[in-house]
Amino acid sequence: MAESPAAETVKPLFSSQEIARRIDALAGDIAACDLHDPLIVAVLKGSFMFAADLIRALHGHGLTPEIDFVFLASYGESTTGGEVKILRDVTSAIEGRDVVIVDDILDTGQTLDFAKSLIKSRGARSVRACILLDKTARRQVDVTADFTGFACPDKFVVGYGMDLGHRYRELPFIGVVENSA
Ligand code: 5GP
Ligand code: MG
Repeated sequence: MAESPAAETVKPLFSSQEIARRIDALAGDIAACDLHDPLIVAVLKGSFMFAADLIRALHGHGLTPEIDFVFLASYGESTTGGEVKILRDVTSAIEGRDVVIVDDILDTGQTLDFAKSLIKSRGARSVRACILLDKTARRQVDVTADFTGFACPDKFVVGYGMDLGHRYRELPFIGVVENSA
């Protein structure tokens, strides 16, 4: 069983209340775009909690989105040589749809760039991206999100669906791992 080393603690960065408030505002921004029969494509695994809360907030703003998942993993160096692979593809028909890609973190930009190209290549009518955390400091690919939850410091964050070696996804808040030994 995965357990945290005794000296490791998670210092809160964004509380569950802050996250909930921000997600409601994001849902309002998405609703204001007047999307036709929107399809949410959540990038696994890290965005599952964010996507679950976001679609409930979208319901609160009167939307009836469809949801699908794409499981992406990046390999190799996080430079231009890095490669993104599809571990599980979407199953919905994308042709002609207004798609909103949902991911946890926009870091180097490789994952989102790949996801946007993938959805465009399947014939989407429009492709937007909604990202919970934006680490602008580490960007290597010129890609932007249409909706952003929070600017994120250049630190490794966990919680709220995001892991460190399979741990911490269950935390209801987002924090930074600290070693106090
Ligand atoms: P990118 O392709 O933009 O470099 O990386 C984006 C992906 O890397 C995110 O979807 C996320 O899975 C992972 N990632 C980037 N920074 C962090 C972080 O601080 N914590 C965690 N848990 N994952 C991260
Ligand atoms: Mg991810």
